[in-house]
Formats: sequence, C-alpha cells, structure tokens
Amino acid sequence: NADSENDMTPVRWIRINPLRCDVEATKLEIQKKFPTRVENWSDIVPGSIYYDEYIPNLFGIHPQDKITSHNLYKQGKIIIQDRASCFPAHILHPDENDVVIDGCAAPGNKTTHTASYMIKEPSKDPKIQIYAFEKNPERAKILDKMIKVAGCSKNIKINVGDFTKIALPEKYKDVTGFIVDPSCSGSGIFGRKFIDSLNRKKMNKDEADKKEGDEEEEVPDEQEEYNKREDLKTRLSKLSSFQFQVVKHAMSFPNAKKIVYSTCSIHAEENERVVIDLMLDSKVKQWGWKVAPRSKVIPTWPRRGKVEEFEEVFREDGNSSKCEELAGGCIRALPRSDGGIGFFAVCFER
Ligand code: SAM
Repeated sequence: NADSENDMTPVRWIRINPLRCDVEATKLEIQKKFPTRVENWSDIVPGSIYYDEYIPNLFGIHPQDKITSHNLYKQGKIIIQDRASCFPAHILHPDENDVVIDGCAAPGNKTTHTASYMIKEPSKDPKIQIYAFEKNPERAKILDKMIKVAGCSKNIKINVGDFTKIALPEKYKDVTGFIVDPSCSGSGIFGRKFIDSLNRKKMNKDEADKKEGDEEEEVPDEQEEYNKREDLKTRLSKLSSFQFQVVKHAMSFPNAKKIVYSTCSIHAEENERVVIDLMLDSKVKQWGWKVAPRSKVIPTWPRRGKVEEFEEVFREDGNSSKCEELAGGCIRALPRSDGGIGFFAVCFER
C-alpha cells in the first residue's frame, strides 16, 4: 500500500569496516554474494550491487537482500550505514595523527566510520584517538555495543554526559577535529518502519538488537510535526539554538582545525541558518572559523546548500559570490530521491 511504499528505503547502504577485516578480501566476498554490478543506485534490483562513487568502500544493495544474516555482517566486517550519514567522517578525513571528538555520538555510526579513516595499516594495532560524548545513558550503552562490534573499543573513549558541559577545552588541548551531529528534528529520516516490519519478525533477538543500533537516529513523529505547524516552528527554533551552542562549543577548543556539522533534517533552520548564525557570531569570527570551500567537501556531490538562505542575510553586502561560496560549502541530500535519508553537512575550518 501507499504507506509502506513511502516508508521504503530505495537502497540499503553497507560499508566495509577496515577495523575488522582486510578490505580487498572483504570486497571479494561481497563480489561473490553480489556478482551483478549496476552503474546507478536507482538500477539496483535484488541480488545486484552498486559501488558508490563518493564514499570509498561503500556499496548499495536492494533493501530486500538479507545482509544481516551474512557472516560479514555478523563479524562486524560490514556495517549498515546510510550513504549521506557516511559524509561527515569522509569530509573530516582524519589521519592517524589526528585526535577527534564526536560530540553527540550514539549510536556511533559516524564515530566508527571516523575511526576507519585513522588507521594506517589495518593489520597493526591501530593508534586511534577518539573521544565520544553522549548525553543519554541508554544510548551510550548502544554506542558501547556498536564500538565493540566495529572492533575499536580500545581506541574510543566514551564519556556519558552533556558535551557542552563536560568536555572542557583545556582538558582536550590535543584535539584537532570534530564530528558534531546533534539531535535534530529528524525530518529527513524515513524507512525505519519498513525495516522493522520487514526484518524484525525474522530476526533473532541479538540480530534485532544490533539492527536497532545500526538504524538508530533521531526518529521524529513526522505526522505530529506536519499536523502542528506552530509546534514545529517552536521546536525548530529550540533545536537550532541548541545545535548552534554545540558547534560553538566545539569551535572553542584551542587546537581544533576542522569541524563537520551535520543533521538529518531538511529544514533550513537547523542547517544553513545555523551556519549563518555561527558565521555572524563575534567569538566564532575571533577564533578564525570559516566555512570550508566546496573543493574540500565532496565537490562532485551535486546538491549543495540553499543559496537563498545565505542571500537573505548577506545579499546586502553586495556580495553574491560569497553566498554562492557558502552554499557551495554545504551539502544537502533529499530523502529517497538522493538514495537515502535527507541530510545536511558542512565543514568549518581554520
Ligand atoms: N552521530 C550519531 C551516529 O551517526 O550514529 C547520531 C547522533 S544523534 C543524531 C544525536 C545524539 O546526540 C543523540 O544520541 C543524543 O542523545 C545526543 N545528544 C544530545 N544532546 C547532547 C549533548 N548536549 N551532549 C552529548 N550528546 C548529546
């Protein structure tokens, strides 16, 4: 029926986890299971596979293909993660010399993906330093589980509490990069109901628990949102000031060079307008933060930030190229039509 059509994710995205395996060997195993390669994700049918052009070692398969019963999945060698949700770690692109904080980490998909960029040689004991903060103790348990599954529990230190209160900049002088993916309206998310109804009944309890972690994001009640416009406006205003505070806190760390901010929201209030508020903030200016240019933020991804949002504020400066530049530094993904959840990402650098 129409409802289940709407809930259906067009692609199940899986990424190879180099913390648990040899990437090339795992690729061969994936090839064995999915010998038919398609050139566009929109051509995926059951049994076929698409090799993503933006994120290394990320593949799209048909949502009906049961990957959770495969050994690669059970052993943590592949992880289910929406493509757009893989953008932040790829944009941050830390190496083994970086020290990273994930400020709002649970369930931990971006945390473990970030870790995967920080290993030089998969076979060696990895020298990865990540501090993960999570306010909600129950979600912190899921984070702990996910990190164990991904094989990086030795390298990721979990701190349970409010990132803006317990992560003191003077205590983390060596931190160079941030993933900031705070709670949002979740207006870009769909598909969970589909996954639940299709797979949950068939899974054993362990699998179901693991699945829960994989898919866990801020899940809004969309109906409620769209039925009560007034409430949505108030909610977005509260969320955007919280999101602003979280990113601004990350910007106050003395040696931070790069911060990737993301949401799974389609609302400009939580996306471009947070970027604008940060760019207008006197402290942020004083600290020297700028929006990184398109050339450093998956330049070939076609859908960028909404230029009209920047024009509303910066047009008076008589500087339309500045608006184009700022919008070009932002990434947007539309729910479903871009192959997954609705998403926003931007990178600040100095
Ligand atoms: N980055 C995660 C991932 O990819 O798996 C998803 C993060 S989810 C959108 C936001 C998380 O931030 C939630 O688990 C929420 O409990 C947590 N959170 C909200 N406010 C926080 C705060 N002030 N400090 C730390 N964590 C916070």
